Amino acid sequence: MHAGKNGEKVTVAGGAATAVPEQPVILFIEGDGTGPDIWRAAQPVLDAAVAKAYGGRRAIIWQEVLAGEKAFQATGSYLPEESLTTLREYRVAIKGPLTTPVGGGFRSLNVTLRQVLDLYACIRPVRYYEGVPSPLKEPWKIDMVVFRENTEDVYAGLEWPAHSPEAQRLIRFLNEELGCQVDPGAAIGIKPMTARCSKRLVRMALRYALERGRRSVTLMHKGNIMKYTEGAFQNWGYEVALEEFEDRVISEAEVASRYHWQVPEGKVVIKDRLADNLFQQVLLRPEEYDLIATPNLNGDYISDALAAQVGGLGMAPGANIGDECAIFEATHGSAPKYAGQDKVNPSSVILSGAMLLEFLGWHEAARLIHAAIPRTLKDGIATYDLARQLPGAREVSCSAFGQALVERM
Ligand code: NAD
Repeated sequence: MHAGKNGEKVTVAGGAATAVPEQPVILFIEGDGTGPDIWRAAQPVLDAAVAKAYGGRRAIIWQEVLAGEKAFQATGSYLPEESLTTLREYRVAIKGPLTTPVGGGFRSLNVTLRQVLDLYACIRPVRYYEGVPSPLKEPWKIDMVVFRENTEDVYAGLEWPAHSPEAQRLIRFLNEELGCQVDPGAAIGIKPMTARCSKRLVRMALRYALERGRRSVTLMHKGNIMKYTEGAFQNWGYEVALEEFEDRVISEAEVASRYHWQVPEGKVVIKDRLADNLFQQVLLRPEEYDLIATPNLNGDYISDALAAQVGGLGMAPGANIGDECAIFEATHGSAPKYAGQDKVNPSSVILSGAMLLEFLGWHEAARLIHAAIPRTLKDGIATYDLARQLPGAREVSCSAFGQALVERM
């Protein structure tokens, strides 16, 4: 695959875009099922936002990368080596959902991409867009970003079924060598967590908070029960915050003891909450939470819970970011039953595109998209999923919703 006309590479280091040309090459993976529908609606919206914000001075040079069914049809492989090479070379991509067959077949391509490219942080901003039906009374109080560790914890895939030779061997070792009393018929799963992976995740969250003027980073963990994994995550998080960012970050304890709960100007607060408590807090006192940094499983749960609080996954954007690569993606699946019908809501991939624009530092273009969504919904224009919940709304197709956004920029 070749770079588009005049396109140049974005330089990515330490999980951030460090040099962005005016005409960057950005890769896209259409995705399976409804992926092509939402991508066809989204790309014109992203191009229009950039054109409107920068009057032709800047433009994205899109380049397709094959993955999933389209790749299989063209090359016989669901994730061709050439695609990985292109991703490693150009580093910034946006993708639609990829189908994972249930029960056997191949491993999830999404998980493979995250592991092969070491995309260690799953970033999910959660904010409310006026007009979106929400189960909360005051959903506008939610404006949070979840940083979920993407590479370890119980997602490491270290599991053995009950009565398997591996489980029995491990149980014998645990009982005989370490004095444990594990039931010999138990299934066994392992939860590895390291200082390196925990710290790099918290470091990325702190940098993001400082660059974007956010107020706090909350370490979400279950360290009262899992002391040496989740508890260590908390300790490692504080270590990064107070050793590497000591002049710009302050602990909640210090704000209370030395500053009477008044955060000193320009400082980001680092605090921690037990996972179960945080689920209550984000419902009861959402205005007190801003960025959340957390291990893999907690992050999975809290991201979807928060997305539901502001009106559902259909709108939620996401990104998987490592030191050298960033892939922005719709958080919903490929919804195959609607494939090719130009019907589903393209907002998730469009808002992921807005995150990509922010990653490039093109905040003006991202803001145009963030403003166009509530304007369009207020005008009563929505895809089927939201139209059926909005009294008096007119249901439009996926591509017409994209067009309506462009008209309201
Ligand atoms: P799904 O998100 O594809 O669909 C579930 C339901 O949600 C749909 O039937 C539809 O009613 C609704 N929905 C989803 N996207 C929507 C949109 N853009 N607009 C309006 N409504 C929407 O979940 P699923 O059916 O569990 O998964 C289908 C496939 O997608 C599976 O193969 C799964 O592995 C894969 N998947 C991929 C990703 C990814 O690529 N990141 C994420 C989740 C699931």
